Amino acid sequence: MSKINVYLRFRPVFHKPDEEPEDSCIRSADNSTIEMINLRNTQETVSYKFQQVFGENSSQEEVFGTALQPLLSHFTDDVQNVSVFAYGPTGSGKTFTILGSDETPGFIPRTLRHLFARTRKNCSSSNITATFSMSYIEIYQENVHDLLDDRKKLFSLRQDNCGNILIPGITEIKVENFNDFEKYFVPASHQRRMAKTSLNERSSRSHTILIVKERKAPFLRKTAKLSIVDLAGSEDNRQTGNRGLRLKESSAINTSLHVLGKVVVALNKNNQHRVPYRDSKLTRLLQDSLGGSSHTCMVVNLSPEMSSIFDTQRALNFATKSM
Ligand code: ADP
Ligand code: MG
Repeated sequence: MSKINVYLRFRPVFHKPDEEPEDSCIRSADNSTIEMINLRNTQETVSYKFQQVFGENSSQEEVFGTALQPLLSHFTDDVQNVSVFAYGPTGSGKTFTILGSDETPGFIPRTLRHLFARTRKNCSSSNITATFSMSYIEIYQENVHDLLDDRKKLFSLRQDNCGNILIPGITEIKVENFNDFEKYFVPASHQRRMAKTSLNERSSRSHTILIVKERKAPFLRKTAKLSIVDLAGSEDNRQTGNRGLRLKESSAINTSLHVLGKVVVALNKNNQHRVPYRDSKLTRLLQDSLGGSSHTCMVVNLSPEMSSIFDTQRALNFATKSM
C-alpha cells in the first residue's frame, strides 16, 4: 500500500486595514519543515517535517500541482481510486484549498479541467473512451445528504461483491465536459455558501464530498472513484463553550474525524485487518478509497495567528500521526 502523503498549508495572517496584524505562531523553516512556538515555553520553537509545507504565499496552482495532480494519473490511467482531504480548524483555508474562488480556483475545478483535458488527449490517440459521473454529498451528524437533490433523504451505505461502497439512490450525474460539470456543481456549491450563516455554520460542522466516477470502455466493468473531501472543522468545540445542539454536533464531528485518524494510523501501520472503517459514516463511505490499491493525500490547513495556537497544535498532532 502506498503511504498517505501529508502536506501542510497555512494562509496569510488576517488583519483589518486599520489594525496591526496579530503575531504568527508558525513559520516555514524550509519547504518541508514548519516551526511552531512551543506551547510550554514560548521562547522556544518546535519543528515538524512533512512532504511539503505550503506557506502564505503559495499559489493554488502550486498546491494542486504538487499534492493532487500527480495522483490523478492513477485515476485516469490505472483506473484506481484516489482520495484527497482538506483537514484543519474552521477558518484555516480548507474550502479555499478544495473549492477556491472564481479568481483563484481550488482542487475541484482544477481537477475537473485536468480530467477532461487529459482524457480528450488520450482518447483521441486510442479507441478507449472514458465517461465520468459525479455525486456531491454531505455528511452531517452521521447522516448522508444529497447536495444535488435536497428532496432526497436518508441514505444508507452498501458494499458490493467487489468491495465498492455504494450509496443507493444518490444522484449520479453524467458529465461530458467542464461546462456540464459547472452547470450542476456551481449552483449546489453556491447554495452551500449561502446556507452557511442561516444553518448555524453547518458547513463547518459537516463533511462535503465530491465523488467523480470514471468508467472506461471497452473495460466497462472497471470503475474508478475519485473523492475530494472538505472535512468538518477540527477545532475542539467543547473548549469554546458550545452547548446544546452545538455540543451534540461537535461530538458527532469529533467522532468521525477521530475515526478517520484511527483509520489512517492503522493503514500506515499496515494493519489491514484492524482498520475501523465501520466506526463512522465518513470512513465507511471511503473504505474503498483508503488503503488497498488506492492513493490518498491530505492537505492539513492551519491558521497562523497566535490566538489559534491550540487548534494548530491539535492539527499538527493529527498530521504527524497520519504520516
Ligand atoms: P475553512 O473552510 O477551513 O473554514 P476557508 O477556506 O473558508 O476556511 O478560509 C477562511 C478565509 O480565509 C476565507 O475568506 C478564505 O478566502 C481565506 N483564505 C484561506 N486560505 C487562504 C490563502 N491561502 N490565501 C488567501 N486567503 C485565504
Ligand atoms: Mg469551509
